[in-house]
Amino acid sequence: MKLLKDRILKDGVVKPGNILKVDSFLNHQMDIDLINEIGKEFKARFADCPITKILTIEASGIGIACIAAQYFHVPVVFAKKAQSVNLDGEMYTTKVESFTHKKVYDVILAKRFLTEQDHVLLIDDFLANGCALLGLIDIVKKSGATLEGAGIVIEKGFQSGGQQIRDMGVRLESLAIIESMSDTSLTFRE
Ligand code: 5GP
Repeated sequence: MKLLKDRILKDGVVKPGNILKVDSFLNHQMDIDLINEIGKEFKARFADCPITKILTIEASGIGIACIAAQYFHVPVVFAKKAQSVNLDGEMYTTKVESFTHKKVYDVILAKRFLTEQDHVLLIDDFLANGCALLGLIDIVKKSGATLEGAGIVIEKGFQSGGQQIRDMGVRLESLAIIESMSDTSLTFRE
Protein backbone atom coordinates (compact mmCIF):
# COMPACT_ATOMS: atom_id res chain seq x y z
CA MET A 1 0.00 0.00 0.00
CA LYS A 2 1.86 3.01 -1.34
CA LEU A 3 0.37 5.63 0.99
CA LEU A 4 1.47 3.61 4.01
CA LYS A 5 4.95 2.84 2.67
CA ASP A 6 5.53 6.52 1.87
CA ARG A 7 4.48 7.46 5.40
CA ILE A 8 6.80 4.85 6.95
CA LEU A 9 9.69 6.28 4.90
CA LYS A 10 8.77 9.83 5.90
CA ASP A 11 8.00 9.41 9.61
CA GLY A 12 9.19 5.94 10.73
CA VAL A 13 12.26 5.84 12.97
CA VAL A 14 14.45 2.74 13.32
CA LYS A 15 15.51 2.06 16.92
CA PRO A 16 18.12 -0.36 18.27
CA GLY A 17 16.85 -3.92 18.66
CA ASN A 18 15.06 -4.02 15.30
CA ILE A 19 12.23 -1.79 16.48
CA LEU A 20 10.51 0.50 14.01
CA LYS A 21 8.84 3.43 15.75
CA VAL A 22 5.69 4.60 13.99
CA ASP A 23 4.18 6.23 17.02
CA SER A 24 3.65 9.59 15.31
CA PHE A 25 0.95 8.14 13.02
CA LEU A 26 -0.01 4.55 13.90
CA ASN A 27 0.22 3.36 17.48
CA HIS A 28 0.50 6.30 19.83
CA GLN A 29 -0.63 9.40 17.96
CA MET A 30 -2.95 8.05 15.26
CA ASP A 31 -3.51 9.57 11.81
CA ILE A 32 -7.16 8.70 11.30
CA ASP A 33 -7.22 9.64 7.60
CA LEU A 34 -4.39 7.18 6.99
CA ILE A 35 -5.97 4.49 9.19
CA ASN A 36 -9.25 4.93 7.31
CA GLU A 37 -7.38 4.12 4.10
CA ILE A 38 -5.84 1.12 5.87
CA GLY A 39 -9.34 -0.02 6.88
CA LYS A 40 -10.57 0.28 3.27
CA GLU A 41 -7.57 -1.69 2.04
CA PHE A 42 -8.25 -4.54 4.48
CA LYS A 43 -11.89 -4.58 3.32
CA ALA A 44 -10.80 -4.72 -0.33
CA ARG A 45 -8.36 -7.57 0.34
CA PHE A 46 -10.88 -9.64 2.33
CA ALA A 47 -13.99 -8.65 0.33
CA ASP A 48 -14.64 -12.29 -0.60
CA CYS A 49 -14.67 -13.52 3.03
CA PRO A 50 -17.85 -13.79 5.12
CA ILE A 51 -16.31 -12.02 8.14
CA THR A 52 -18.55 -11.84 11.22
CA LYS A 53 -15.99 -10.58 13.74
CA ILE A 54 -12.65 -8.81 13.90
CA LEU A 55 -10.29 -10.05 16.60
CA THR A 56 -7.26 -8.13 17.82
CA ILE A 57 -5.09 -7.85 20.91
CA GLU A 58 -4.69 -4.92 23.24
CA ALA A 59 -3.48 -2.31 23.10
CA SER A 60 -2.27 -0.98 19.76
CA GLY A 61 -4.40 -3.24 17.57
CA ILE A 62 -7.67 -1.93 18.97
CA GLY A 63 -7.88 1.47 17.28
CA ILE A 64 -6.91 0.07 13.89
CA ALA A 65 -9.40 -2.80 14.23
CA CYS A 66 -12.20 -0.41 15.16
CA ILE A 67 -11.64 1.76 12.11
CA ALA A 68 -11.39 -1.28 9.83
CA ALA A 69 -14.61 -2.68 11.34
CA GLN A 70 -16.56 0.30 10.01
CA TYR A 71 -15.97 -1.10 6.51
CA PHE A 72 -16.89 -4.67 7.49
CA HIS A 73 -19.85 -3.68 9.69
CA VAL A 74 -18.97 -6.33 12.29
CA PRO A 75 -18.05 -6.14 15.98
CA VAL A 76 -14.48 -5.93 17.21
CA VAL A 77 -13.39 -8.12 20.09
CA PHE A 78 -9.96 -7.78 21.64
CA ALA A 79 -7.94 -10.27 23.64
CA LYS A 80 -6.87 -8.83 26.97
CA LYS A 81 -3.49 -9.16 28.61
CA ALA A 82 -4.16 -10.48 32.10
CA GLN A 83 -2.05 -10.47 35.24
CA SER A 84 -3.45 -13.77 36.42
CA VAL A 85 -5.84 -16.17 34.79
CA ASN A 86 -9.05 -17.06 36.58
CA LEU A 87 -9.73 -20.58 35.35
CA ASP A 88 -13.50 -20.46 35.73
CA GLY A 89 -14.14 -21.89 32.28
CA GLU A 90 -15.65 -18.70 30.92
CA MET A 91 -12.49 -17.56 29.19
CA TYR A 92 -10.28 -18.78 26.38
CA THR A 93 -6.68 -18.37 27.52
CA THR A 94 -3.34 -18.49 25.77
CA LYS A 95 0.18 -17.19 26.33
CA VAL A 96 1.89 -14.50 24.26
CA GLU A 97 5.49 -13.37 24.44
CA SER A 98 5.79 -9.65 23.83
CA PHE A 99 8.42 -8.73 21.26
CA THR A 100 8.71 -5.15 22.48
CA HIS A 101 8.57 -5.85 26.24
CA LYS A 102 10.33 -9.27 26.32
CA LYS A 103 7.68 -10.62 28.70
CA VAL A 104 5.21 -13.51 28.59
CA TYR A 105 1.59 -12.53 29.11
CA ASP A 106 -1.53 -14.57 29.72
CA VAL A 107 -4.09 -13.44 27.20
CA ILE A 108 -7.81 -13.96 27.73
CA LEU A 109 -11.04 -13.67 25.79
CA ALA A 110 -14.55 -14.24 27.11
CA LYS A 111 -16.00 -17.36 25.46
CA ARG A 112 -19.33 -15.70 24.82
CA PHE A 113 -17.76 -13.26 22.36
CA LEU A 114 -16.33 -15.87 19.98
CA THR A 115 -18.24 -18.99 18.96
CA GLU A 116 -18.09 -21.67 16.29
CA GLN A 117 -20.53 -19.67 14.16
CA ASP A 118 -18.01 -16.86 13.76
CA HIS A 119 -15.80 -16.15 10.74
CA VAL A 120 -12.83 -14.24 12.08
CA LEU A 121 -10.45 -11.69 10.64
CA LEU A 122 -7.40 -11.01 12.83
CA ILE A 123 -5.95 -7.50 12.75
CA ASP A 124 -2.79 -6.13 14.33
CA ASP A 125 -0.37 -3.27 13.83
CA PHE A 126 2.87 -5.28 13.57
CA LEU A 127 3.98 -8.79 12.77
CA ALA A 128 7.50 -9.62 13.94
CA ASN A 129 8.18 -13.06 15.43
CA GLY A 130 4.51 -13.93 15.23
CA CYS A 131 3.80 -14.57 18.91
CA ALA A 132 0.88 -12.15 19.13
CA LEU A 133 -0.77 -13.55 16.00
CA LEU A 134 -0.10 -17.17 17.01
CA GLY A 135 -1.81 -16.44 20.34
CA LEU A 136 -4.87 -15.09 18.53
CA ILE A 137 -4.89 -18.07 16.15
CA ASP A 138 -4.80 -20.38 19.19
CA ILE A 139 -7.84 -18.60 20.66
CA VAL A 140 -9.74 -18.91 17.36
CA LYS A 141 -8.92 -22.66 17.26
CA LYS A 142 -10.14 -23.11 20.83
CA SER A 143 -13.41 -21.34 19.99
CA GLY A 144 -14.16 -23.53 16.96
CA ALA A 145 -14.68 -20.38 14.85
CA THR A 146 -13.46 -20.23 11.23
CA LEU A 147 -10.27 -18.26 10.71
CA GLU A 148 -10.66 -16.30 7.46
CA GLY A 149 -7.28 -14.60 7.62
CA ALA A 150 -5.07 -11.97 9.20
CA GLY A 151 -4.55 -8.35 8.21
CA ILE A 152 -1.31 -6.74 9.39
CA VAL A 153 -0.35 -3.12 8.88
CA ILE A 154 3.46 -3.59 9.02
CA GLU A 155 5.20 -6.95 8.70
CA LYS A 156 8.90 -7.13 9.44
CA GLY A 157 9.71 -9.64 6.72
CA PHE A 158 13.20 -10.30 8.05
CA GLN A 159 11.70 -11.86 11.21
CA SER A 160 10.18 -15.32 11.18
CA GLY A 161 6.51 -14.74 12.02
CA GLY A 162 5.15 -14.12 8.52
CA GLN A 163 6.73 -17.23 7.02
CA GLN A 164 5.58 -19.39 9.93
CA ILE A 165 1.98 -18.18 9.71
CA ARG A 166 1.81 -18.50 5.89
CA ASP A 167 3.25 -22.04 6.24
CA MET A 168 0.31 -22.85 8.53
CA GLY A 169 -1.99 -22.07 5.61
CA VAL A 170 -3.34 -18.87 7.10
CA ARG A 171 -4.23 -16.17 4.58
CA LEU A 172 -2.00 -13.30 5.64
CA GLU A 173 -2.29 -9.83 4.09
CA SER A 174 0.37 -7.34 5.19
CA LEU A 175 0.01 -3.81 3.83
CA ALA A 176 3.74 -3.07 4.05
CA ILE A 177 6.42 -5.74 4.33
CA ILE A 178 9.83 -4.48 5.39
CA GLU A 179 12.65 -6.40 3.74
CA SER A 180 15.47 -4.76 5.69
CA MET A 181 16.05 -1.77 7.91
CA SER A 182 18.88 0.08 9.57
CA ASP A 183 19.23 3.61 10.88
CA THR A 184 20.22 4.78 7.40
CA SER A 185 17.97 2.75 5.07
CA LEU A 186 14.67 0.91 4.91
CA THR A 187 13.51 -1.28 2.03
CA PHE A 188 10.18 -2.93 1.29
CA ARG A 189 9.40 -6.29 -0.29
CA GLU A 190 7.60 -5.78 -3.62
P1 5GP B 1 5.34 -10.48 17.43
O1 5GP B 1 4.45 -11.08 18.48
O2 5GP B 1 4.90 -10.77 16.01
O3 5GP B 1 6.80 -10.76 17.65
O4 5GP B 1 5.22 -8.91 17.61
C1 5GP B 1 3.98 -8.30 17.40
C2 5GP B 1 3.70 -7.25 18.43
O5 5GP B 1 4.90 -6.63 18.92
C3 5GP B 1 2.88 -6.17 17.82
O6 5GP B 1 1.57 -6.26 18.33
C4 5GP B 1 3.55 -4.86 18.22
O7 5GP B 1 2.82 -4.29 19.27
C5 5GP B 1 4.91 -5.24 18.70
N1 5GP B 1 6.01 -4.96 17.76
C6 5GP B 1 6.81 -5.87 17.13
N2 5GP B 1 7.75 -5.29 16.42
C7 5GP B 1 7.57 -3.96 16.55
C8 5GP B 1 8.27 -2.83 16.02
O8 5GP B 1 9.26 -2.90 15.27
N3 5GP B 1 7.77 -1.62 16.37
C9 5GP B 1 6.70 -1.47 17.18
N4 5GP B 1 6.29 -0.24 17.44
N5 5GP B 1 6.04 -2.52 17.71
C10 5GP B 1 6.47 -3.76 17.40
